[in-house]
Amino acid sequence: MTDTVDDRAISTSRQMRLARVRAAMARDGFDVLLLSIGADLPWLSGYEAMPLERPTVLVLSRDADAILVVPELEAPRVHEDPALFELRPWREGEDAVGLIADLVGAAKRIGVSDRMWAGLLLGIQSHLPSASFDRASKVTGAIRAVKDDFEITMLKRAGAAADLVAASLLSGEIPLLGCTEASVSAAIGQRLRDAGHAKVNFAIVGSGPNAASPHHEAGERIIGSSETVVCDFGGTFYGGYEVGYCSDITRTVVTGQPSPELVELYDVLEAAQAAAVAGVELGATCASIDGIGRKLIDDGGYGQYFIHRIGHGIGIEEHEDPYMTGGNETKIVSGHAFSVEPGIYLPGRMGVRIEDIIVAHTEGTIRCNQVDHALHIVEA
Ligand code: ZN
Ligand code: ZN
Ligand code: ZN
Repeated sequence: MTDTVDDRAISTSRQMRLARVRAAMARDGFDVLLLSIGADLPWLSGYEAMPLERPTVLVLSRDADAILVVPELEAPRVHEDPALFELRPWREGEDAVGLIADLVGAAKRIGVSDRMWAGLLLGIQSHLPSASFDRASKVTGAIRAVKDDFEITMLKRAGAAADLVAASLLSGEIPLLGCTEASVSAAIGQRLRDAGHAKVNFAIVGSGPNAASPHHEAGERIIGSSETVVCDFGGTFYGGYEVGYCSDITRTVVTGQPSPELVELYDVLEAAQAAAVAGVELGATCASIDGIGRKLIDDGGYGQYFIHRIGHGIGIEEHEDPYMTGGNETKIVSGHAFSVEPGIYLPGRMGVRIEDIIVAHTEGTIRCNQVDHALHIVEA
């Protein structure tokens, strides 16, 4: 990327994130964060580490400059920004773990990325026997959950791209009848790429009885007529920037006239999803939004068949804070981005789910997905 005004604005927003993280470190008693693979590093630095064995770690001290330790051969990938961090490449053969430990110095309490390789963490721990270690997400999770304007724009763009694919599913442009789930999954993946996603993160296609398995792995089952097909897919959208944001949408279609039972099931689900989205307001809790959807499904008689939380936060990662579960009393603030995705699963028979990405906002709830929720009959 060139040094445009946009670039400077992005650097400024990352500096603000760093300041917030340092303030939270002071509040929670963390001396250093070690951010490796995972989303915290690109969120703060713009650099996405390669998920390989050579250590990449941002050593983020509470009150010293941040230092990005990277393998020398990957250093050219780093977009340097002295306002955020100093670059410290390590040579092949150099003791990278020892270097990281030296940079940590006498720090007592260290937060590490949730996704840091266990092998790297064990190496660092052996160098720093008197330090204590905790999850960096205790500091970063709640801050990263609140998206700034740029991030909201990225989530909207990712959502609009996924919407194109969902619309082609509902309109019958993606053939279903007589196709295997795996081939439909591949077609969805191709369309996600065509719509601008750089990566396809998943494309779940569950047909007939497989629709009752929420995270079904699309397989060789051939889709028959008058079956429900749950399609849940998402990818990472970069839009020309260094850090990508995720899409995630679910639509359920039926390949022929739906049975009265399915119509009823779907009506309950659609009402529950709409009510939970309508319940998104600043100051509501994550638990209350889960509860709104769950109550309607309970009242409809299907409570025992809604077997997961109603949603999850989304951003650089597909699943992140805030988790929309019955136990989460976190209050919704402007910038919280998350899915609302109730489902009803009748084991061995059928399943239905509807999912949209929502951003709570002072100017009113933002819906990143606009595709119709009605049950579409796809006889293609
Ligand atoms: Zn899921
Ligand atoms: Zn999903
Ligand atoms: Zn989801």
